[in-house]
Amino acid sequence: MEIVLATQNKDKIEEIREILKGLPVKLITFDGHSRELAVEEDGKTLEENAVKKAEIWMKETGKPALADDSGLEVDYLNGAPGVYSSRFAGEDATYADNNAKLLKLMNGVEKEKRTARFRCVAALVSPDGKKELFQGTIEGIIITESRGTSGFGYDPVFLIPEYNKTFAELGDEIKNKISHRAMAFGKFRKYLEKILQEQS
Ligand code: IMP
Repeated sequence: MEIVLATQNKDKIEEIREILKGLPVKLITFDGHSRELAVEEDGKTLEENAVKKAEIWMKETGKPALADDSGLEVDYLNGAPGVYSSRFAGEDATYADNNAKLLKLMNGVEKEKRTARFRCVAALVSPDGKKELFQGTIEGIIITESRGTSGFGYDPVFLIPEYNKTFAELGDEIKNKISHRAMAFGKFRKYLEKILQEQS
């Protein structure tokens, strides 16, 4: 089985490879591939963006394609930044800009109301038009100032209560086992295992 990974992000490619290790699946990647396949993520939901990216790459290659989209949903902000997570503080915002904006908006909000979650949606789109969605979430709390140095994005302000540590303090090894992405791709692996078993 061949699957096209609709991402040019090396870290994601590595993470997906690791999760699918041992399965008889050939992952096709286009690391550094053509500009024209850079897809605008203009959907209103993570689902829309993931399906859009996978569809474009499926049509380009004629093979099943997998894409994902993730975001942070803060309850006090009615689910924002959500689909706008990467550009919360503006089109060219850095991770630090986004975190600063988030902490400012949450200034003075009591702990009980600082609940949030990361959500990841992975979409597999096949040449026959079939779409499968796989979702992963991890619940946490937005703390009042950044803590930790590993990871990226909102990791330093997202605390996981079970560990009493932020993602940025936990480090990649644990994060990659419990994260929203790990859960979504884990479900994808289970789906593939089932399909492969049915085929054999
Ligand atoms: P993407 O769809 O995985 O590229 O994620 C979009 C944006 O969501 C990123 O630019 C980050 O701002 C945020 N985000 C997604 N996953 C994570 C994570 O694991 N840690 C921190 N921020 C994340």
